[in-house]
Amino acid sequence: MIIAIDGPAAAGKGTLARRIAAALGLPYLDTGLLYRAVGRRVLDAGGDPADPVAAKAAAESLTAADLARGDLRDGAASKAASQVASIPAVRAALLGFQRHFGDVHGAVLDGRDIGTIIFPDADIKLFVTASLEARAGRRFAELRAKGDDVSLAAVCDDLAARDDADAKRAAAPLVAAADAILFDTTAMDADAAFARALALIKAKLG
Ligand code: C5P
Repeated sequence: MIIAIDGPAAAGKGTLARRIAAALGLPYLDTGLLYRAVGRRVLDAGGDPADPVAAKAAAESLTAADLARGDLRDGAASKAASQVASIPAVRAALLGFQRHFGDVHGAVLDGRDIGTIIFPDADIKLFVTASLEARAGRRFAELRAKGDDVSLAAVCDDLAARDDADAKRAAAPLVAAADAILFDTTAMDADAAFARALALIKAKLG
């Protein structure tokens, strides 16, 4: 069984996907981490994440250790991830890994193009959204809790810029699959979103 969970940044996809995976006994893959790790590798080598040659080389030589790094969630990694993610050769290099991950035992995967490109025949597709204000507020609280000295306005600007770039790029743009269930978490906390999503999934699967 494949459950595809797509949507813009900080909509609550990761928490939701992890909990759904645990509830259904499925492996979980955060595909954003792949792009973050590629971006981080390019930055570490002193390269430009918008450079297709450097980004493709980083994507083709990604290791498990790259994915386990503790610095994949900061602002620099987020921006670099979005930049490398717009390069078709990077997406092509990461496609096989994602499909194989799901093909082995089934999986819950979250990202931007899971229901449109990676698993267009997924059993369940959720497109998770929330207002920009709600998403920025949640990400801001998360970053502050980690001791990051960011401002709410800066977080809001970063999210808006990243969503805009992700939605407008030519390669696998952020868009809901035609058969995705639209799931707006603006007025829900994590527990309510999980309960509602699980009920939707169970209803769809009969
Ligand atoms: O989900 P997360 O915010 O960690 O993703 C970081 C960036 O990676 C996104 O802004 C997007 O540009 C890219 N991404 C993507 N396709 C995916 C997952 C993430 O393009 N399936």
